Amino acid sequence: MNAPTKPPKADVEIVTLGCRLNAYESEAMRALAGEAGLNDAVIFNTCAVTGEAVRQARQAIRRARRERPDAEIIVTGCAAQIDPQSFADMPEVSRVIGNAEKMRAESFAPGHERVQVADIMGVRETASHLIDGFHERTRAYIQVQNGCDHRCTFCIIPYGRGNSRSSPAGEVVEQVRRLAANGVPEVVLTGVDLTSWGHDLPGQPQLGSLVARILKLVPELRMLRLSSIDSAEMDDQLFELVTQHDRIAPHLHLSLQHGDDLILKRMKRRHSRAQAIALCERLKTARPEIALGADFIAGFPTETEEHFASTLSIIEAAHLAYVHAFPYSPRPGTPAARMPQNERHVIKARAARLRAAGEAALARHLSAWVGREADALIERDGMGRLSDFTTVRCDVVAAPTQRLRFTHHDGAHLIGVAA
Ligand code: SF4
Repeated sequence: MNAPTKPPKADVEIVTLGCRLNAYESEAMRALAGEAGLNDAVIFNTCAVTGEAVRQARQAIRRARRERPDAEIIVTGCAAQIDPQSFADMPEVSRVIGNAEKMRAESFAPGHERVQVADIMGVRETASHLIDGFHERTRAYIQVQNGCDHRCTFCIIPYGRGNSRSSPAGEVVEQVRRLAANGVPEVVLTGVDLTSWGHDLPGQPQLGSLVARILKLVPELRMLRLSSIDSAEMDDQLFELVTQHDRIAPHLHLSLQHGDDLILKRMKRRHSRAQAIALCERLKTARPEIALGADFIAGFPTETEEHFASTLSIIEAAHLAYVHAFPYSPRPGTPAARMPQNERHVIKARAARLRAAGEAALARHLSAWVGREADALIERDGMGRLSDFTTVRCDVVAAPTQRLRFTHHDGAHLIGVAA
């Protein structure tokens, strides 16, 4: 019997690595590449947040070249923006395009220079591009802010994304309206440093005012969600809306990074342990059903066992339902990479312990849902999420939203049956 033939690869394939901002931009690039008449190509939208992310991009590029020997291979995203020559030197690569250039159709037109990467620090505008939906998804990410003015000592992102800049509120509202009109039930506002939205706009509005405007002007939108925010920069109006408005998802992902004040200082973060815990307390008091998650780095330079214990203990102190644990990865050119480093095995072991502590927090969160009912937004194949972003598995693949009763959990997902 002949082996089933693999479906032919899409003419222009986009491989997205990294964050939701990249996911949004890949959606926009799909349309821009079409406009430019690009075909038979693979576009890599890369990430540079860790050395591992860059290594994975190279590996995927080599694989793509083997699988599609005649296709044009275009590399863009933060890894290409920060070190374009290292990709241009790869024989597998046809072209390298910068983070600003990738949002312009003409960059994908044939006959361009092999390397088109301008200085990202010179970019002043967000290049928003209206999208109609999100490839195969019921949830759409939209970029409202790009770049970052902070310089956390471990972070390479500002060198890939440039300084902070905001999409004008009118454009954002138009984008949300278009998605809601196309039946997208949920929109996620994303950015590199989301809470700095508006600082570069006339009158310096804050993120809370943008959220208020979206909720008022797009009443047909079922749910608005925020992607990761900086706990030190949550404005009062935003706090009010997140804790009081039922069309704002009861879920916040916080960029906490560490639980110890000395290490937070060495990271050049803008909050203290006490401030992070106090904010989470206020959020849970004002909206008890809100689910809080956070990013943490394990093994930051000079971190001792005692400092690390502070990160483990903040998970319960801040009522966190889950944790994203990142082993520290020295990024060339960042101040932290020049600090005294922890041994690799120490970093890995702490990251594993942090992940285990996060899994224990998630199991507590999931157990609290067992026996209860809720509406889930079904993404695909019986997989979905609750409004507090809890992942669910169910054997019903009905309309995007499905009422479920939760019988048990498998440590990562709630298991639900039709209620
Ligand atoms: S706030 Fe800090 S961690 Fe976040 S992107 Fe900016 S420099 Fe990086």
